[in-house]
Amino acid sequence: MDAVVESPLVMLDRAGYRLTGPRRAVADLIASRQGHFTAAELVGDAAMRRLGIARATIFRTIEVFEGVGAIERIDLPSGDHAYIACEPAAHHHHVVCARCGRATDVDDAGLAGVVGRIATETGYQIDAHRLELFGLCPTCQADGATASSS
Ligand SMILES: [Zn+2]
Ligand SMILES: [Zn+2]
Ligand SMILES: [Zn+2]
Repeated sequence: MDAVVESPLVMLDRAGYRLTGPRRAVADLIASRQGHFTAAELVGDAAMRRLGIARATIFRTIEVFEGVGAIERIDLPSGDHAYIACEPAAHHHHVVCARCGRATDVDDAGLAGVVGRIATETGYQIDAHRLELFGLCPTCQADGATASSS
């Protein structure tokens, strides 16, 4: 294993998907996004660039990318779903800025122990978990983000 980050297109190719024009275009849109994005935002990007890709195609393409692990879905506190492009590395979690949407990968950092204890206490064999942390990133804190709830 080397440290080269695989592009979403490489992952698609390996999974047996054809690298169609729309898939390449959506990969491009994702690459130019900072932080997390929603399907609707990608549709907006595509319209702004006049890519001429149908909304349904973008939604389907996002699902394909998610299916091969090139992007991950996160559930925002608002109840919306967003996606982030991230390295298809080992199991990890995300700390997400609620203001600018930047996401940082974090490892399990002791969580494995907690999960093990829960397994022991409940008698379940625990196979999977999801954890997302939300707050303000250092940049947004420095910007003097106020606690106003407007
Ligand atoms: Zn990640
Ligand atoms: Zn931020
Ligand atoms: Zn974990």
